[in-house]
Amino acid sequence: MTTRVRLAALAAAGPATVIGLAFATGFALVAGVAQVAAPARAQVPAPYPNRPITLIIPFAAGGPTDTIGRITADNMSRTLGQTVVIENVVGAGGTTGVVRGAAAAPDGYTIIFGHMGTHGAAPALYPNLKYNPVTDFEPIGMIAATPVVIVTRKDLPVNTLAEFVAYTRANAATLTTAHAGVGSVSHVAGLLLGSLTGARPAAVAYRGTGPALNDLVGGQIDYLCDQIANVAPQVQAGTVKAIAIATAQRSPALKDVPTAAEAGLANLEVSSWNALFAPKGTPPEIVARLTDALDKALDDAGTRQRLLDIGNVLPEKPARTPQALQRFVES
Ligand code: ASP
Repeated sequence: MTTRVRLAALAAAGPATVIGLAFATGFALVAGVAQVAAPARAQVPAPYPNRPITLIIPFAAGGPTDTIGRITADNMSRTLGQTVVIENVVGAGGTTGVVRGAAAAPDGYTIIFGHMGTHGAAPALYPNLKYNPVTDFEPIGMIAATPVVIVTRKDLPVNTLAEFVAYTRANAATLTTAHAGVGSVSHVAGLLLGSLTGARPAAVAYRGTGPALNDLVGGQIDYLCDQIANVAPQVQAGTVKAIAIATAQRSPALKDVPTAAEAGLANLEVSSWNALFAPKGTPPEIVARLTDALDKALDDAGTRQRLLDIGNVLPEKPARTPQALQRFVES
């Protein structure tokens, strides 16, 4: 091989090789050109995602938001080829975590779990809330709806909704209920229940209904309006009692639990919705990757079953899309 042929071959091999040759031969001109070329190649961004993605769960570990988030993230990790790491950022009815997520770099490496409380009720209840649910996020997609169930400690002396209403009215001064902070689903559902029954016992705010349910099992609190995804396993195990479900239809996950309307309390209908959002400004192609991963998770038989087993209601495909989610949040 002549020197010229060898140089041409090296040049074809790319700037990194040429720069090596240039330094080796002291050929300043080639070195100058090659030095410009090499960093330009290094700057080409690695394809998304090339490191773990953080999913902010705005409530405590072990609660419904956390459980639904973990099941979904687990499957999304497989499609994305990167771990989706759960970070529980708790406080102020879920708004602390959502504020943090809304302010994160819009690069696809921080996404946010939002629900009826954080993106529906809280904006009406926190006058100085630092995010606007309609304008501060890029919607990724809807995950599931999660009906609310009235649950009591297992030894509360009531078995039907009528008995529950009579007992809580008569004993409101000594009873304790709980919720996951102002504006959370459990808080709003508890307020609605109280407005319908007239019973308003002391309410303790927790960092999420995971810890609240633990205290219900332990008997430190008397009742709770919580999402079925949290309570179904405990009801099935008999550690707490389900009095009624706040939806028009019974849930296949708790077939024996009557609807509130069936049991005599019309108008107690509360079902949370749960969705994923990215911070505003996240590039559309990155949001599309996340939407695709969520879509695949919700099409996966195993993931669907895990979500259904704990009472979630999975939306049809057209209701999952970012556009449908955006319209939903706006409404
Ligand atoms: N999402 C629940 C609520 O709003 C709380 C939780 O997930 O822990 O009540």
